[in-house]
Amino acid sequence: MGARTGQAYKRRLQEHAPETWIGNEKVTNPLEHPAIRPAVEATAALYDIQWEDVHRAYTLYTEPSTGDMTGSSFLVPRSREDLLKRRLQAKLWAEQTYGLMGRSPDFLNAMLTAWYINRDFFGPYADNVKRYFEYIRDHDLYLTHVLIDPQVDRSKPPSEQPDTFTSLGVVRETEEGVIVRGAKMLATSGPYTDEVLVWPFHLRKPTEKDYKYALSFALPLDTPGLKMISREPYARPSVDDHPLAARFDELDAVMVFDDVLVPWERVFIYQDVERVNTIWKVNSNAFTGHQTSIRLLVKLQFLAGLLMKGTEMVQTNQFPNVQDLIGEVTTYIELVRAAIIASEATAEPNEQGIFIPNVTPLYAVRNSGNRWYPRVREIMQLVFAGGLMYQPATLDVLKGPLAPYVQKYYRGATVDAEEKIRLYRVASDLAVSDFGSRHELYERFYAGDPLFLRIQTQYSAYDKREPLALIERLMKEIMPEKVKSE
Ligand SMILES: Cc1cc2nc3c(=O)[nH]c(=O)nc-3n(C[C@H](O)[C@H](O)[C@H](O)COP(=O)(O)OP(=O)(O)OC[C@H]3O[C@@H](n4cnc5c(N)ncnc54)[C@H](O)[C@@H]3O)c2cc1C
Repeated sequence: MGARTGQAYKRRLQEHAPETWIGNEKVTNPLEHPAIRPAVEATAALYDIQWEDVHRAYTLYTEPSTGDMTGSSFLVPRSREDLLKRRLQAKLWAEQTYGLMGRSPDFLNAMLTAWYINRDFFGPYADNVKRYFEYIRDHDLYLTHVLIDPQVDRSKPPSEQPDTFTSLGVVRETEEGVIVRGAKMLATSGPYTDEVLVWPFHLRKPTEKDYKYALSFALPLDTPGLKMISREPYARPSVDDHPLAARFDELDAVMVFDDVLVPWERVFIYQDVERVNTIWKVNSNAFTGHQTSIRLLVKLQFLAGLLMKGTEMVQTNQFPNVQDLIGEVTTYIELVRAAIIASEATAEPNEQGIFIPNVTPLYAVRNSGNRWYPRVREIMQLVFAGGLMYQPATLDVLKGPLAPYVQKYYRGATVDAEEKIRLYRVASDLAVSDFGSRHELYERFYAGDPLFLRIQTQYSAYDKREPLALIERLMKEIMPEKVKSE
């Protein structure tokens, strides 16, 4: 098997369609549904491009255990060249969607690769993790994931929620596996993926009272009893009028587990509070952080290009304040680029000879990107200003009775009306639409609560030795007597 084509992805999705609800409508064919079809097409294009001759030197590798051509997002890196290969693969896929599909398949492939490398963490279930990784890799399946308990009462742990099975927990065991009930948020891309990976993430550390919620497992999305309740779709029918929303809306959904059987071979953590609280030891952020930083780099470059082109069209790019704001965006780009390169250059082989990206610079991106992206969206509003509102409701006006006015009043300094309207519709999609607002929310929260993430990774667990050594040296210089007396 190995790497898939877009056609193979679509065929499987049709044969194993997840149960998705959009309002009271049950989606029967994700390939044809107007809210899901665009994301399916965008994803199929990713699977296709990995096979193109010009790219396959880095998008694919020959997996030694199977002899199959396999996607590089499953590659266990044994050299810096392998890390570069992973980077080029992630960059190509991000460029295909302009960085707008955060949960493209390589995101969870990266997470699962880390789980596979560090599978000993899973103790009695380590072999399940190994076999699951190999199955997903060898069939090139697409995963969504759900970590968070439903936002019902955040002041209480899972065991004290209003209903015993508000949070996802074990109902009973059978010979074949475990019956689970409850809900999880938020399955981004769930309605057009193959499988779901479940593991719990809590801001409040669970205690032994919460043991029955301390679970990790994976399931095919057409498993009986599994349902997704989608948010309102932001996909639009016209690529002319909504060039991004019409192509790249990755749906988010709440996943409901209505007495679902999880076979024993799909269980990774079972009623184990200790492992849930220490899952950071798997270091999956090193691999997902590499992929998400590359995607953020592409997204910021896309936005910078949009700002450069849009301001050139109306010549606001002559003003120093506008140049300064665009320069702020390119600063973020270069910092992200530097962090990605640093994570590869300072990766050291572990005892198995595997090169794991250095997570420290990648954490710095994660803890800044969730603030930079909202700022860049603000910069788009500051720079494009009324231009974001002065576009006609539809590009069809260029063929209607108002066309002479539109040609005259909607042109730019350097371009005609059609070109300018088209570019500013891209800007509107990002800066002022519901699709664009969701992107801001996504960048703020996709990796978890930005506040706690920064406290944990940039302060509590941060290596403070170098900063403190400088202060200690200075203290010795300015208080030599005190140091001598100690
Ligand atoms: C667009 C989008 C896509 C997402 N995709 C996915 C996905 O694919 N898979 C997935 O699993 N998750 C996904 N998420 C969920 C994401 O992981 C969470 O949004 C994030 O972890 C924050 O949790 P929350 O939204 O439940 O906010 P909450 O935890 O409810 O926080 C709300 C507010 O309360 C504060 N707060 C909450 N608890 C505490 C506390 N104990 N102490 C102090 N303050 C507290 C927070 O700081 C915050 O200000 C997605 C989210 C978004 C917005």
